[in-house]
Amino acid sequence: MTRHFTLDDVDVAGKRVLLRVDFNVPVENGKVTDATRIEHALPTIRELIAKKSRVIIVAHFDRPKGKRVPEMSLKQIHGAVETVLGLKVGWCDDCIGPEAEAAVAAMAPGSVLLLENVRYHKGEEANDPAFAASLARLGDVYVNDGFSIAHRAHASVEAITKLMPHAAGRGMQAELEALARVLLTPQRPVAAIVGGAKVSTKLDLLENLAARVNMIIIGGGMANTFIGARGFETGKSLVERDLYAKAREIEEKAKKLGCELVLPEDGLVAHEFKSGARAHVFSTTQLPAEGMMLDIGPASIEAVKTKLGQVRTIVWNGPMGAFELDGFDKGTMAIAHEVSRLTRAGKLVSVAGGGDTLAAVNKAGVADTLTYVSTAGGAFLEWLEGKELPGVKALEKH
Ligand code: AMP
Repeated sequence: MTRHFTLDDVDVAGKRVLLRVDFNVPVENGKVTDATRIEHALPTIRELIAKKSRVIIVAHFDRPKGKRVPEMSLKQIHGAVETVLGLKVGWCDDCIGPEAEAAVAAMAPGSVLLLENVRYHKGEEANDPAFAASLARLGDVYVNDGFSIAHRAHASVEAITKLMPHAAGRGMQAELEALARVLLTPQRPVAAIVGGAKVSTKLDLLENLAARVNMIIIGGGMANTFIGARGFETGKSLVERDLYAKAREIEEKAKKLGCELVLPEDGLVAHEFKSGARAHVFSTTQLPAEGMMLDIGPASIEAVKTKLGQVRTIVWNGPMGAFELDGFDKGTMAIAHEVSRLTRAGKLVSVAGGGDTLAAVNKAGVADTLTYVSTAGGAFLEWLEGKELPGVKALEKH
């Protein structure tokens, strides 16, 4: 049961369906280098085609800020969309107006049309109701399958839902169900693994999680700030001294809420932030003044594994160390493999997400074995921060 409208709640058979997706894929020299986001929309598009809908794809590319910037045309990904879908896809040079209306009118049932960058119009980012109305003229039903843009109150994400029947696509639905399983209705105990470079970017996230989970396992550069805040030496590690008071406040808050905060007990320490740099293990209560902690150490890895064995649900954002550097990916890889093993054994519901976490679980080769891996960056983080995402709110059943 979902709290949001899905494709099961709206009649799309034979209808003109405006499908909002996130096709903002990386492009180099005119070639799409990673089509994951396009593939993400496949289940929804296939279902709509099977139901003989006319599928009108609304998407953005980059940030043209309301102007026609040729380098930001969606035309450059049109070929990749056809390749992924394995069929011919129509193209229209604008996303609203007479040209778009004529292109839609000419569509056959079960066909697909890609419209030009919706951000070529100022009304998109302004969440302008008049612009949303121009878009709405093109379709009978609106479907949003782009969770990764759901944190934007833009016209094709939010305002449009006020004008027509609306629903989440299958990709969006899967994401919402996975997120609900870890934070709204989780099997407890539930742990959050939070890593990454800086604590400053994760303050809201930590505060929200402290109120919702039973345990927060902290790693990465941000652990240094907590270690320093407890009064220990952090040497040349990445550390935010101005946030010591805040870190102590978060520790206090977590304690009051009954949320256990787990800090690394040892770390891998090097003299330079460099691939293959010589490194030694130190206790985090005795870090050397000349060194920088770039990964969690072997005792911490074992401790985290033990903790993971005690919980039934985990949500993971942020690597345990500087995993891009040779020799400093051990903590992140070990945790990824353990989360994968426990998930495969049916002992853990696991959801991971956020830019670097995605790269980390891919590097470990375990992405397919976790319960769910979110490809959304900002939207996933805002959701962990407990913020209401306008594009998700708009799809709620009333
Ligand atoms: P974030 O975007 O906040 O998830 O941070 C990810 C980045 O944190 C990665 O590029 C890592 O290299 C970096 N990182 C993780 N642990 C450390 C550490 N101990 N020292 C410095 N950087 C780190």
